[in-house]
Amino acid sequence: MNKVFLKKRISRRIEKGHLWIFGNEIDHTETSLQPGELAEVFTHDKKFIGKGYVNPSSQIVVRLLTYNREEEINDSFFIQRILKCWEFRKKLGYIENCRLVFGEADMLPQLIVDKFNDYFVIQTLALGIDRWKPAIVKALHEIFAPKGIYERNDVPVRELEGLPQLKGFLSKPFNPRILIHENGLRFRVDLENGQKTGYFLDQQDNRRRICHIVKGAEVLGAFCYTGAFEVHAAYYGARSVVGLDISETAIQTARENAALNGLSANCHFDTANAFDVLKKWSKEGRRFDVVMLDPPAFTKSRETLQNAVTGYKEINLRGIKLTKPGGFLVTSSCTNLIRPEVFLEILNKAASDAGRRLRQVTFQSQSGDHPIVWSMENTHYLKFLIAEVE
Ligand code: SAH
Repeated sequence: MNKVFLKKRISRRIEKGHLWIFGNEIDHTETSLQPGELAEVFTHDKKFIGKGYVNPSSQIVVRLLTYNREEEINDSFFIQRILKCWEFRKKLGYIENCRLVFGEADMLPQLIVDKFNDYFVIQTLALGIDRWKPAIVKALHEIFAPKGIYERNDVPVRELEGLPQLKGFLSKPFNPRILIHENGLRFRVDLENGQKTGYFLDQQDNRRRICHIVKGAEVLGAFCYTGAFEVHAAYYGARSVVGLDISETAIQTARENAALNGLSANCHFDTANAFDVLKKWSKEGRRFDVVMLDPPAFTKSRETLQNAVTGYKEINLRGIKLTKPGGFLVTSSCTNLIRPEVFLEILNKAASDAGRRLRQVTFQSQSGDHPIVWSMENTHYLKFLIAEVE
């Protein structure tokens, strides 16, 4: 196995638990690095750190898979690791649906596996893990005997790794429009054409948090996708719910989801640009008891971070204006580069521009099946705030 020796200054950061090794952190390698191969990583003074996979043409040249020199990376490694992931989720009570593998947080860098009852969706986002796709699929078959496995590698980030974008069945073909249950409700999930892996499991705990504040309320949900929050709101007793999304197919599924739960009478979904509608309605003086905002990530790069800040400020300002005094704002951000304290600062500014005051009810993160590893900041990406708008 090839050997990678790090520069002196860098090794401590990696020893603390960061799994990525950037090209400029490498002093030298034993032989030239081959795309996708495994390598052992050492400090400048030749102490073993860990083993990982390599992509010499990516900025992140090595991603570590283990700190144990004896641990072989082979088919049984993936069975053991995925079993460990499953044990963890079961302990936390995520049985039917969960993010079974959350990449770096499960020490399986750039591997995502979502479990939707008997169906699995996988993403292999780096070359070195993509090579192990057959082993990963085999492990899923062995552990779960699933009804189906689907690959959602239609993700632009793969191109940075020299990988094509693709999607399709990794098992016998099946109908990819499946049904799942969440918090006692039924939802249609389209594994083939839905966004990301089809459904946003990271908000599954947060959806329960709206239970009390929506009782008898008029609720607005912007960026509603397939209506998961909105259907929860209706179920928890909202008088009326309006959901907005720019995607017509998402809106059709949202309507189907309301119907599946017998909640169509209280739910109304519209295809619309939420920025425009929020602006228009706030000017017209429309008001809601609860306003929920869950936009997509606004940026993935530091260069456009300021635009993302502006975007969050704008929609939250509108959201706050649309909330009746004593009502609630339920607002999320999944932009990795916006740190939690920055998100709160943006909200504080938005409230002050609107001449209103926020009282924080809860400020939380993604659900526990997406664990946060403190040494890897980007495992903490979701911010979820409920605040009373005075
Ligand atoms: N709340 C959802 C997830 C929302 S994901 C859930 O819990 O499942 C973000 C959504 O924002 C996507 O469905 C996307 O189609 C939508 N979106 C993106 N830009 C938009 C815009 N300008 N106006 C309305 N919706 C938009």
